[in-house]
Amino acid sequence: MILSDAWDREHLWHPYTSAINPLPTYKVVSAKGVRLRLDDGTELIDGMSSWWCMIHGYGNERLNAAAAAQMSKMSHVMFGGLTHQPAIDLGKELLKVAPPSMHNIFYADSGSVAVEVAMKMAVQAAVSASGSHRKTNFATIRSGYHGDTWNAMSVCDPVTGMHGAFGAALPVRFFVPQPRSRFGGEWDEADIRPMERLLEEKHDEIAAVILEPVVQGAGGMWFYHPEYLRRTRELCDRFGVLLIFDEIATGFWRTGRFFAWEHCGVEPDIMCIGKGLTAGYLTMSAVLTTRDVAETISRGEAGVLMHGPTFMGNPLSCAIALESLRMLGEKPMADIVARLESTMKEELAAASALPGVSDVRVLGSIGVVEVSRPVDVGRFQRECVRRGVWIRPFGRNVYIMPPYIISDEDLRTLCRELIAIISDESNY
Ligand code: PMP
Repeated sequence: MILSDAWDREHLWHPYTSAINPLPTYKVVSAKGVRLRLDDGTELIDGMSSWWCMIHGYGNERLNAAAAAQMSKMSHVMFGGLTHQPAIDLGKELLKVAPPSMHNIFYADSGSVAVEVAMKMAVQAAVSASGSHRKTNFATIRSGYHGDTWNAMSVCDPVTGMHGAFGAALPVRFFVPQPRSRFGGEWDEADIRPMERLLEEKHDEIAAVILEPVVQGAGGMWFYHPEYLRRTRELCDRFGVLLIFDEIATGFWRTGRFFAWEHCGVEPDIMCIGKGLTAGYLTMSAVLTTRDVAETISRGEAGVLMHGPTFMGNPLSCAIALESLRMLGEKPMADIVARLESTMKEELAAASALPGVSDVRVLGSIGVVEVSRPVDVGRFQRECVRRGVWIRPFGRNVYIMPPYIISDEDLRTLCRELIAIISDESNY
């Protein structure tokens, strides 16, 4: 067993971890392709894409070269009053793959900050359009996850999210139940009623509805029916409420389409992207919106969008993101993700028969095995490392979303080890 580095354990905070009794950490010394190499020489097949982002795998030569070439010119310059070719070229490429009505792009620092910016855009636009300072709240569905900053937390699921720890410190949002109609299953008309009632009653107070389209990520790994998005779009139009799609996890082919909105065919007014944007190399996100929203904000009281981070439009991030987009454009991504999907469906099907398993679902390159009680992450991961795979469960969900370059053989090994681990309930 690999023990955590003592200094790390004493001084470094890891995500969602106790300072008194931290979960074990494993020291990575290098990473290449889909393999993480630990300091004792152990190699792990990565099932997480480092939380969705490492879409082309680790240490990609083309991305390394793009980073080096940009670094030799400039790593960073402020975006206030200056611009540069990597930001312009990336923006042009993003507009080619984004929903057609997207027109203005705001580069931000991380997924959570993109959600903050999207929410600020919505409030500024709603106040400007309505002339009312009452129209500033948000609606969303249960079991969502939108990030860890203040407003992003406020629209995360109030039970599985962070509301418990922050309580009254958080702004109070409107929540309706998540749609229970599954992706690929029958649509149940009852699913849209709560959102319909809410918008009917409270539209005067609501600037926007925010949703993760089709796939709810860290809040529950739930895949829901695209009809919910079409109907929510109609309701938003009827009641003068903006629609924000958080595509931070779903973007860049993760669900089998370039962006998940393509499953439903209706466009948002504002869209957040991040994670896979820089193929996992650097932290960067973007918020895209329509010309109408951008101009409405600009006609408002402030006359400008009130945000401008230090590292906005970082040239190094832009250059890497641009190269990653080019790589995606050159590959038959729909076929690649369809192959991952069918292999995962085939391999993970066996999990349905296990006693501790309550559901198995696969969409695009995301495979989820839901178990009937919360997983002991420390114990589960010890077993993963012993078996040469890297999976990090959350709550009752054991899920994988590997880099797209994973070979068929490695993907089958990853799935089989996952099943072997959950076959023995003492592992979690
Ligand atoms: N929205 C969604 C849907 C996410 O999955 C995440 C990250 N897990 C975020 C927002 C927040 O992104 P970040 O961790 O980069 O702040």
